[in-house]
Amino acid sequence: MPITLPPLSRRQFLKRSLAGTAGILVGRITLAADATVDPCRFALMSDVHIAGDKAKIMRGVNLVEHFTRACAQIAELNPRPAASAVTGDCTLLDGQPDDYMVLSEVLVPIREAGVPVHLVLGNHDCRERCWASIAPDAGQDKVVENRHITVVESPHANWLMLDSLDVVNRSPGALGEAQLKWLDVALAERSDKPALIVTHHNPLFGKEKSGLSDTGPLYEVLLSHSNVKAHFFGHTHKWSTKPHDSGIHLINLPPVAYVFNKEKPSGWIDVRLKANGATVQMNSLNPEHRQHGQTVELEWRG
Ligand SMILES: [Zn+2]
Repeated sequence: MPITLPPLSRRQFLKRSLAGTAGILVGRITLAADATVDPCRFALMSDVHIAGDKAKIMRGVNLVEHFTRACAQIAELNPRPAASAVTGDCTLLDGQPDDYMVLSEVLVPIREAGVPVHLVLGNHDCRERCWASIAPDAGQDKVVENRHITVVESPHANWLMLDSLDVVNRSPGALGEAQLKWLDVALAERSDKPALIVTHHNPLFGKEKSGLSDTGPLYEVLLSHSNVKAHFFGHTHKWSTKPHDSGIHLINLPPVAYVFNKEKPSGWIDVRLKANGATVQMNSLNPEHRQHGQTVELEWRG
């Protein structure tokens, strides 16, 4: 099952149905009459690394302070996004219960704005402690054993958010054979619409050392489905977009809070989907950063 923190507001104008499909929770976002919600808009945050200690500073950044500001900006968006996600490394190191409690507390404004939050796990997460702290039902009813997969279907594209957590607090990630088998079927079942893949870990193409150890098998699956248009990931803490040889767009999300390199921006990404592509905007938490507001137009491969 996915780990989804639903909106806290009862006033949900967006028609959003949740349908169980063999244990997988699918969020289905449809075009709605309410102009305050954009069913094609999504806010993505990565590498928040939240600690139970709200005063925790890493590399000169107060982790909770950065995350709180990003959440406030997302909560204030007009029109509101249909959904948001934290794409892994939700906690500082190994997913302590207090870390998840603070994470959940800081996410409240987004949920109060009526926007659901999907959690994708990374190497600095712990499934069991996440369930015990903030998602008591998420450990049940697994389609792929020990993995959390979230499918969000939206008017222009389907999001498939995968689980690459392998060993807690160790850098490499892996999707595993069972999840890749599920993905192959899920992509075939949704061949009528562009598919956007989300993993915490970055794919490894040659030079990079830390990332998704089963990049080869993943891309064997992705390249066999022409509906796959983009792969969003974090883990490297480096904002960038570039096309893979196949034309699949590789979107490396910036960190929200744990900044490896002061020259690189920290912030979140605003994605607006269109029929044949997406507009992706970088929102730096430092508005003076040269990449703040940078907008990238992505066109889907044929
Ligand atoms: Zn990571």
